[in-house]
Amino acid sequence: MDKYQQSQKDKLFKTSTHDPYCLQRVEGSAVCAQCGAVYQAGNWTWNRPENTVVHDAKETTCPACRRIADNMPAGTLTLSGSFSQKHRNEIIHLVEHTEKTEKAEHALERIIKLTDSGDDLIVTTTGIHLANRLGHALEGAFKGKSDYRYSEDQYGVSIHWTRDE
Ligand SMILES: [Zn+2]
Repeated sequence: MDKYQQSQKDKLFKTSTHDPYCLQRVEGSAVCAQCGAVYQAGNWTWNRPENTVVHDAKETTCPACRRIADNMPAGTLTLSGSFSQKHRNEIIHLVEHTEKTEKAEHALERIIKLTDSGDDLIVTTTGIHLANRLGHALEGAFKGKSDYRYSEDQYGVSIHWTRDE
C-alpha cells in the first residue's frame, strides 16, 4: 500500500465514526423489518444459518433501509465521458456485480439507485465503502480516472469517474 492509498484508508476509518445514520444505538439484538438484516454485537449482518438464531430481537429499520427511504446517499458516483455512454450495459453489469459481492459481506453497503443525468450516469450508495469499491472496480475494469472527494464534516464520499473514447 503506498502513501496515497494509506491516506485514503485513514480517511475511510476517520469518516466512518461520523455516520449520522449509525449514531442511533441499539441495545441487544435487532432485526430490520424491511430487509431482514440482523443487528448483533454492534454489527449488522445477514441472518445466515451459521449465525446464532436471534430470539429476543427487536424490530427496527436498519441504517441502509433508512438511507434508501430518505434518499440520503453516503456515496455518490458520477460516471461521465463518451466511453460510459457507449459501454453502458457493461458498466451497469460491473456496478451491479460489485454491489452483490460487497452487500453479501457488509449488509449495510447497497446501491440506492442508478439514474441518468444528461449524459452522465449517477450511482448512489448507502455506504462509502461500496462507493469506494465501485470507483476502484471501474478503474480496474475499464481504466479511465476516478477522483475521490470525502466530505469533511459529514459521512460521505463523492466520486467522479470519467473516460473518453
Ligand atoms: Zn434494512
